[in-house]
Amino acid sequence: MSECLFCGIACKDIPADVIYETDDVIAFNDIDPKAPIHCLIIPKKHISTMNDIKRNNSAVVGLLYEAAAIISKELSVADDGYRVVMNCNKDAGQTVFHIHLHLLAGRELVWPPG
Ligand code: AMP
Ligand code: ZN
Repeated sequence: MSECLFCGIACKDIPADVIYETDDVIAFNDIDPKAPIHCLIIPKKHISTMNDIKRNNSAVVGLLYEAAAIISKELSVADDGYRVVMNCNKDAGQTVFHIHLHLLAGRELVWPPG
């Protein structure tokens, strides 16, 4: 089994509430939601942090955003709005070191975030 939690979810070793999947990305509901809708969109291939996004692996980042646009429409929040966030390292509060877009929606989201 992979040592990375999200690699484990991507290869289905670890169960998750999957809401969207393609060959390259998978999205699942956050286990500790911070909004009525809070899902995580991840590349299936491991990338530890945003600092590791390079020319040779960056294409999947566009696919994460494409997934967010599709999911927001499927969940009927595209028009009211939503936020996508990727935390990087300690000061942003990253706790799982496999990049993921948080998609948050279903309430007004304050700005700036804490
Ligand atoms: P971050 O703090 O940006 O690294 O976000 C990690 C997110 O992963 C948090 O919002 C956690 O609630 C979420 N999380 C941790 N373990 C799981 C899990 N097994 N299934 C779904 N979400 C998880
Ligand atoms: Zn991983």
